Amino acid sequence: MNGDSLYGALPIPLQNLACTYAGWQRARMRYTPYFHQTLASWMESGWSSEEALRSLQQARLISLVERAREAVPHYASLDVPPPVADSDPVTGIEKILDAFPVLEKTVYRDAPELFLSKAIDHTTLIKGKTSGTTGMALPLWYTREAVAEEFVAVWRLRVHHGIQLGDPHLTLGGRSIVPLNQIKAPFWRRNSWAKQTLFSLYHMSVDNLPAYVDAIHETAATYIQGYPSSFYLLGRAMLEQGRPLPKGKFKAVLPSSESLLAFHAEVITTAFNAPILDRYGASELAVSMTGCREGHLHVDMEFGIVEVEVEEETDEWVRGPLVVTGFANDATPLIRYKIGDVGTRSKQSCACGRPGDVFLDVDGRVEDYVVTPDGRWIGRLDHIFKEQRDIAEAQILQDEADAIEVRLIRQPSFSDDSEAKLLREIRSRLGNDIRIDLNFVDEIPREANGKFRAVKSRVGRNG
Ligand SMILES: [Zn+2]
Repeated sequence: MNGDSLYGALPIPLQNLACTYAGWQRARMRYTPYFHQTLASWMESGWSSEEALRSLQQARLISLVERAREAVPHYASLDVPPPVADSDPVTGIEKILDAFPVLEKTVYRDAPELFLSKAIDHTTLIKGKTSGTTGMALPLWYTREAVAEEFVAVWRLRVHHGIQLGDPHLTLGGRSIVPLNQIKAPFWRRNSWAKQTLFSLYHMSVDNLPAYVDAIHETAATYIQGYPSSFYLLGRAMLEQGRPLPKGKFKAVLPSSESLLAFHAEVITTAFNAPILDRYGASELAVSMTGCREGHLHVDMEFGIVEVEVEEETDEWVRGPLVVTGFANDATPLIRYKIGDVGTRSKQSCACGRPGDVFLDVDGRVEDYVVTPDGRWIGRLDHIFKEQRDIAEAQILQDEADAIEVRLIRQPSFSDDSEAKLLREIRSRLGNDIRIDLNFVDEIPREANGKFRAVKSRVGRNG
């Protein structure tokens, strides 16, 4: 079901049937008895207490390390001591983790089979690979329980906000479910089994968006999930037509797969009239964080441990690369794995009341940094556009060290003042040495997988 020629040649009712069958297959793999048991248990532990969560983490860590020492060649060769529980779980966790060096991605990439547990029949494992349009794709193996736990983390957040399995919903994901040569609505297909409507990401042109806006107003769906950059396109079309959704139509907007950019969030909230509940996860199934109404990301403590290699620190937060230890996947345990993302951990507990580690944000794959002529790496440049109401969408490209190209879709209100203000904002972050080429466009293309990238720097990636 990937827009191949066979699927593409089917009449729409049969394409709907194919989507329904694929949806049923996905659900059968995800929503196992283990999923339902674990969800019930995490619904309780998630809001229990800081101490309860740390004790649970210590117990899961000990069990993980015991299995890794015995059955996983990479860890067996490290010769780490047997893990010991401490009456203070924070101390206990620290001592156990300290025995492990930080695991770089390249170590895993060079010999992934050394991470495969010998205690598990490999024919039962599910194969995957890291996503990402750039960088190295790593081979991955999962147990069914790991996949189930990933979805427990996702569903705990939803259930907590009043969404139930089986509720009608919309998906805006990377699957190509509508043939590209189709020029008239419907630009969506139905998975009737899960009451899911799948909107095509690849037909969202100026001409077609009004049909999407009609469809979203008519839908019975109670939540929407998918790429935030596409929610944004849809949200902007709704606002331009003066047709935001009424409050309460959607219980939540659930972004996945991309970072939620600052300049997208405001339009999405206004147009959909619903809270955005963000999530951070990774194909390695070694880390999970789920959002809250305060706009923060809470570590799913039952799923793993997240350490920060501190590069910056204030009284309120610490910031740096994330080092994660995942409890869910016995197939290839990842202990102190440097996942390649950067995060900002709050030193305060969150006003929403959920205990455990809280992050203010997570972002920053290396290719999303611009490098200045004097060698500084600057991330989170999407914030430049947050307050620029005269700009509909923007992208920064860097092909050489001394210049950037800024692609802009202007709002009708865009003026010389807007341009001057924008240049000041960019200069305040990147300095005066870099050349800035503004390029006004009507559309900013997505990547081949349908994702939007706010910053694409060849210099940053190869640096
Ligand atoms: Zn919170």
